[in-house]
Amino acid sequence: MQLELTEEQKLVQQAARGFAQDRLAPIAAQIDRDEKIPAEILDGLAELGLFGVNVPESLGGAEAGVVAYSLAMQEIAAACASTAVTMAVTNMVGEVIAHFGTPEQRQRYNPRLCGGELRAGSFALSEAEAGSDPGAMRTTATRDGDDWVIDGSKQWITSGVFAGVFVVWARTGEEGTKGISCFLVDGDAPGLTVGKHEEKMGLRGSSTTALHFEGVRVPASALLGQLGGGFKIAMMALDGGRIGIASQALGIGEAALREGISYAKDRRTFGEPIANRQAIQWMIADSRTELDAARLLTMRAACMKESGVRFSRQAAMAKAYASESAWKVCDRALQSHGGYGYTKEYAVERYIRDVRVTRIYEGTSEIQRIVISRDLLR
Ligand SMILES: Cc1cc2nc3c(=O)[nH]c(=O)nc-3n(C[C@H](O)[C@H](O)[C@H](O)COP(=O)(O)OP(=O)(O)OC[C@H]3O[C@@H](n4cnc5c(N)ncnc54)[C@H](O)[C@@H]3O)c2cc1C
Repeated sequence: MQLELTEEQKLVQQAARGFAQDRLAPIAAQIDRDEKIPAEILDGLAELGLFGVNVPESLGGAEAGVVAYSLAMQEIAAACASTAVTMAVTNMVGEVIAHFGTPEQRQRYNPRLCGGELRAGSFALSEAEAGSDPGAMRTTATRDGDDWVIDGSKQWITSGVFAGVFVVWARTGEEGTKGISCFLVDGDAPGLTVGKHEEKMGLRGSSTTALHFEGVRVPASALLGQLGGGFKIAMMALDGGRIGIASQALGIGEAALREGISYAKDRRTFGEPIANRQAIQWMIADSRTELDAARLLTMRAACMKESGVRFSRQAAMAKAYASESAWKVCDRALQSHGGYGYTKEYAVERYIRDVRVTRIYEGTSEIQRIVISRDLLR
């Protein structure tokens, strides 16, 4: 068993850390307030190869692997979780196209996605009545001559407002999961409009919107993968995506623990730093232990994906455990700040708002437990 990072993984980690600490952390509170990620931040991610960490070099990616992707995600999330989710979805879209796309689709989208030209990629699976159960989706794609015509609405779409390419799931056949196909749709496609902007408790710098498709016409060549094979693509993409969200949760948790430790050393009550109190020490010890356990689960899932073996269960375990642990870590850090933790003066207030969604998106904790137990009971 080898727990050491490779030189390349360390380089990616250091590059992401440098960018996160120097350029992102100082403006993270402003991103949260303004509800917008500055263009230069997106450009910076692209320049560092962070929009296609696990995408082949021949397609414009960094080809640094899944472990490197997880490490980079942890660093970016520790500075700004909103930027991290934008990066996560763009990487997921890039990987889906690189994996399932035709040579033409790859050449058309991957280099521009990795290079930042398309700003971001967007993953349009969920609908108002189909979140945990995407098989219930109602958006349709109907064949019309050589084209497909997409009609319907999507809900909760990250980066929907500015993405240059959307991976869109739509029903092309029978009810349920078998009648779903997947399409690549350009951000400026006629008939595609951005709907309601969600007012979220956290991740406020990341745009989350509804999308409306009214007679959106795409050529037959926009079909990604097999006709009727969309559900399988979604499940495979989400398996990998869950490693990204586990890493995002870890990054936020690390930032919260760091801040909790620093505050505990400074804050004095009854004539002593609160760090001298066992109650606070135990919070710190539990947080460190849980984050380390979450990191090991996440790294295991990343290594398994990288080596090409089945990793669905391990990714679900990493995602459920990391997101729930990071939530507890943020809560303890806030508690150790006393009243100040409940104000915008300290970043723990943002961390706890941001971390909460990691238990919800890309499959809730309940859905992860279904994935884990179903695999064990097969
Ligand atoms: C900020 C944000 C960004 C998002 N970004 C995207 C995106 O970019 N693209 C995209 O496609 N989607 C996105 N989503 C959607 C997200 O993946 C869904 O919200 C999530 O899958 C849950 O679906 P739902 O909200 O419909 O909840 P529901 O499916 O209605 O679930 C409600 C509750 O019931 C539980 N539940 C449901 N079914 C079961 C079951 N069988 N057994 C036990 N419990 C169950 C759930 O765990 C949950 O607690 C985003 C969501 C948020 C909040």
